[in-house]
Amino acid sequence: MPQTLITLKLEGEIICVYFFMQRPTIEVITGCMFSGKSEELLRRLKRHRIAGHSLCIIKPAHDTRVETCVRSRSGAEEEAITVSYPADILNCVAGKDVVGIDEVHFFSPELVDVVQEVFSQGKIVLISGLDTDFSGQPFKTTALLMALAHKVTKLTAICAICKHDAANRNQLLVSAKGNRFFVGDSEYEPRCTNCFEATQVI
Ligand SMILES: [Zn+2]
Repeated sequence: MPQTLITLKLEGEIICVYFFMQRPTIEVITGCMFSGKSEELLRRLKRHRIAGHSLCIIKPAHDTRVETCVRSRSGAEEEAITVSYPADILNCVAGKDVVGIDEVHFFSPELVDVVQEVFSQGKIVLISGLDTDFSGQPFKTTALLMALAHKVTKLTAICAICKHDAANRNQLLVSAKGNRFFVGDSEYEPRCTNCFEATQVI
């Protein structure tokens, strides 16, 4: 269970030292592309680092944009371990207080059992990922994790058409081919529900 060491000093002399125990939780940060999910994940991880908690940051092998780190669009980044399957995460978390997992929509729903196992080990689990795909349908893994989480934060982006801060859809700007999921940022723009047009799969 994560502990925070607190030292009280009076005129430079230590007068009290105690540990603050933090309960394990599952937190989900979700929303559309360009809504700042990774930025928020990195912000929360940074606060745990300041509190003296040991961190483990995971990203899926499917995310080919950055090799070995989680990076926000504002440039913030943290080193991450790339894993191919949810079960691989269990080999990475020993001795860690806080486990951050980015882009969870790329993982299969098996991730749900893994997250619950990590939580049962007394760790804080911070999760970030898209809630819906280019057709507006929920990603199953993200949806299941949202249902189980103690805290869910849904972020929005600025709609590329009407400019309201209400975008919650990923508008694919090219035709979708079969079930292929495009990874590149340049192929999408954020849209609100009113401005979203479901992409036809060809
Ligand atoms: Zn709009």
